[in-house]
Amino acid sequence: MSIPENIREIQRRIRQTCEKVGRSPEEIEIVAVSKTFSPEKIQEAVQCGIRHIGENRVQEAWAKFQQLGNIARWHLVGHLQTNKVKKALQIFQTIQSVDTLYLGKEISKRVEDPGKPVEILVQVNTSGEKTKFGVSPERAIELVKELSLLSGIKVLGLMTIGAFLPDPEEVRPCFRILKELKEEILEQGIEGVEMKYLSMGMTDDFEVAIEEGANMIRIGRAIFGER
Ligand SMILES: *Cc1c(COP(=O)(O)O)cnc(C)c1O
Repeated sequence: MSIPENIREIQRRIRQTCEKVGRSPEEIEIVAVSKTFSPEKIQEAVQCGIRHIGENRVQEAWAKFQQLGNIARWHLVGHLQTNKVKKALQIFQTIQSVDTLYLGKEISKRVEDPGKPVEILVQVNTSGEKTKFGVSPERAIELVKELSLLSGIKVLGLMTIGAFLPDPEEVRPCFRILKELKEEILEQGIEGVEMKYLSMGMTDDFEVAIEEGANMIRIGRAIFGER
């Protein structure tokens, strides 16, 4: 299937899921995760109305950004090494993978205009898989509080990558953990912190994520094809 057809199909599935759980499809932002795919394919997705592009490596994103510029908002969804923060800030408006205070401080230090803070999401490891990045759920709220005190960054939500399990139903508990964290953070009313985005759900599990409250889904293969 073509990229336009793929996007229409995802939108149809979003509408269907939203209807099932009584949410509005307009709430759901799609981040098209374009790692390994060409700038031309990204352009095609943007022409279909995609407004958010996700990349997981700074170097790869840099080359595409040189060619495309700000045709959409760029989100870093992969791990960020501190020696790449400076370059990352030239590309990305949102960094979805902040999981340590150390990284938050490095970003804060390198923001050029503190009047225009960088949007960050705190990545939480909800599956407990040791191979995954992310702060533990137990430490997440404390980290959000610490990050909220830094200038030049603004905590706008939470992100997680669900467990890699064949049945999306089995991933549901991961999404539920993230949603509960969001609610606890809201209850605590941490100054300067918004919980605007709950970034969870990918090609194989985005419907379950939406059922659990996701309003930002990160889709690669279902848009661009197999990698
Ligand atoms: C690759 C990737 C995605 C998209 O995965 P698909 O299974 O291709 O939809 C989403 N989030 C992150 C962090 C990724 O690295």
